[in-house]
Amino acid sequence: MIKFAKNRLIDTHQRPINYLRISITDRCNLRCLYCNPEAKARKLEHREILRYEELLRIIRIGVSMGITKVRVTGGEPLVRKGCCDFLKQIAKIEGIEDLALTTNGVLLKDHIDRIADAGVKRLNISMDTLDPEKYARITGSDVFERVWDGILSAHQKGISPIKINMVVLAGINDEELIDFAKLSLDYPFHFRFIEYMPIGRSIDLNTPPILLPAIKSRIEAIGELIPLQKNIHDGPAARFRFRDSRGEIGFISPVSRHFCAACNRLRVTADGHILSCLLSNITEDIKTPIRAGFLDEALREVFFNATRRKPLQRPVQISPLSQTEQMISIGG
Ligand code: SAM
Repeated sequence: MIKFAKNRLIDTHQRPINYLRISITDRCNLRCLYCNPEAKARKLEHREILRYEELLRIIRIGVSMGITKVRVTGGEPLVRKGCCDFLKQIAKIEGIEDLALTTNGVLLKDHIDRIADAGVKRLNISMDTLDPEKYARITGSDVFERVWDGILSAHQKGISPIKINMVVLAGINDEELIDFAKLSLDYPFHFRFIEYMPIGRSIDLNTPPILLPAIKSRIEAIGELIPLQKNIHDGPAARFRFRDSRGEIGFISPVSRHFCAACNRLRVTADGHILSCLLSNITEDIKTPIRAGFLDEALREVFFNATRRKPLQRPVQISPLSQTEQMISIGG
């Protein structure tokens, strides 16, 4: 018991770290304007990407230090062969209380049975527009219907909650805020509005970004937004609902309102680094020691170092040339 407490990941600002987000690939089947338009990011070579057995070892070590929640992301996680088996292996690790997946939904319908069987309880799906033509413009692929079918198949399979993430892009999809929010009246999904972060390889929108206060006040035109109690799995989202709605509304504001004080996470990048903070360049290489055959104790030290180096707050300026340039290999 005492040993466990000593091995807990608690950063120098007394924030307990219990959440690991793992990007299993930098490959994606979409080319979203705000992430990796025209596939400009350098693709990692196969040998640079962590193997599943390496990732499972990292997760086990994290769990021995207090990690209880794992989210698998990408790139697009479902394009990596063996993703569903990997999810199943994670779910079997004693100490994992919550297993989640972030996907663009393109391959969701094909994989939903195995995802559900693997034990994934929470699903985040990126969908930035309700207009199939605009979807093709934003993502470079004409697959809106497939994504929507995927969402419905996940619902039929009983996955809950299903969170639909819309990155609000000024002049591109912001006139759909109300249509999106209204869907929460009829569907039991969480519709979440994310401030666009002008980072990495995202396009220059040439328009000031629309921040949370403006997003919220536009949605409030539909009706009163009733605040909901946060629960431990909410992360940075502020949650609301309309009276009598089946679903929820969430706001995520990485730009206007930092949620650093409650940060409980570390990220593992596809190329084998532990990232202390999404918007900083602070990383610890875990792939080299793993491949050099280091014992678990040394890998624990890597976790400790990444935790120790977590900044109290994200950098004041989001650097366009920072690590976040590789959002595609970090996974959001
Ligand atoms: N392929 C999966 C997907 O589409 O959800 C997972 C990877 S994607 C990088 C993870 C999340 O990062 C998505 O919800 C996406 O909207 C978000 N994201 C990527 N670039 C962003 C940006 N510039 N600003 C805000 N969110 C961004």
